[in-house]
Amino acid sequence: MQAEDIEFANEWSAEALKLMQENSIPPSPDNYAVWFRYASGRLPELNKEIDEKIATAGPLDLDTTLDIQRRYFSDAKLTDVTLATGTKLNTEVDQILRIIEETVGNSTALGASVREASESLSSQSTPGDVLKAVEAIVTASRKMEERSAELEDHLQATKRELNELQDNLAKAHTEARTDGLTGLNNRKAFDEAIEREMAGARASGKPLCLIVGDIDHFKKFNDTFGHRTGDQVLRLVASCLKNGAAEGHIAARYGGEEFAVIMPATDLATAEVIANRIRETVMARELVKRSTGESLGRVTMSMGIGLFRPDDAAASLIERADQCLYQAKHAGRNRVIAEDAGAAMPKALAG
Ligand code: GH3
Ligand code: MG
Ligand code: MG
Repeated sequence: MQAEDIEFANEWSAEALKLMQENSIPPSPDNYAVWFRYASGRLPELNKEIDEKIATAGPLDLDTTLDIQRRYFSDAKLTDVTLATGTKLNTEVDQILRIIEETVGNSTALGASVREASESLSSQSTPGDVLKAVEAIVTASRKMEERSAELEDHLQATKRELNELQDNLAKAHTEARTDGLTGLNNRKAFDEAIEREMAGARASGKPLCLIVGDIDHFKKFNDTFGHRTGDQVLRLVASCLKNGAAEGHIAARYGGEEFAVIMPATDLATAEVIANRIRETVMARELVKRSTGESLGRVTMSMGIGLFRPDDAAASLIERADQCLYQAKHAGRNRVIAEDAGAAMPKALAG
């Protein structure tokens, strides 16, 4: 749960308890976890599944709730996938080893048959003896051929299985790093990416910039129009970031209404241009309430930009970008302030 969500926790909690009562679900911690998430609306898939289940089968029973709980919480989900993959892999490998052993056994048996047959034959052997020896060899080699073909088939099937397992793991990996509301990289993905890109910048010597952005007066927007509408705004801002960021840039939802873009191989001047472009796109969008068509006005964003220094830790780079953001807020919001790479004090750039 993100820090800013705490504000809604009471509301969601009350809603969750009410829903549980309506569905006659005992208020155990596991059940509560599911219904709290449902009330938050943060996992649209979860809500969809629950709504469908209720529509077709009436109130949720305990087993269904537990099943949902197990499947939806991403760590549990990831563990499930990993465990399933491990078990499957073990079975596959066991089976292949068994067939290989048998095939090797058969080929040893074939060698022995040939040896035995040649030893049993002499100048006194009758055509019947020779025929018998040949039959023994033919039987042994046919057996081996069959097992080899089986091994080949099995290897092909295993290859398909392994590809599928790989896909599942990759999917789970992506899911665990994606923000459910906006589809952007989540905080976990951001934390990994910033470390990776800082190491990249150290190695390449290329500049690396970090934008942190925060929606202006968003609390007021939420208080006026409700947090579900606020969530729509978060999605809109996320799409502006995604579209505005250049290829190779990493846009992330850093916190509740805070966003970040990691910009590898980008100097401050370019980062400012991109940040201002994103800021202008956000400002240009008139917000309309879907259900009623009512105009909700516009939102604006303030942003700060930090430029990576080789001795930076992620925290110090984020801190400098944050200080610039703070100044942008204090200078009147709806503006971008980048740190002044040459001086101690950041300089104002746009408004
Ligand atoms: P400022 O211009 O100084 O940033 O003002 P602000 O109101 O945006 O700042 P503040 O940090 O006080 O408020 C942030 C608000 O963002 C609190 C909460 O209402 C809202 N918020 C945070 N996360 C979410 C979210 O996931 N969904 C919705 N709808 N609102 C959120
Ligand atoms: Mg904020
Ligand atoms: Mg804000």
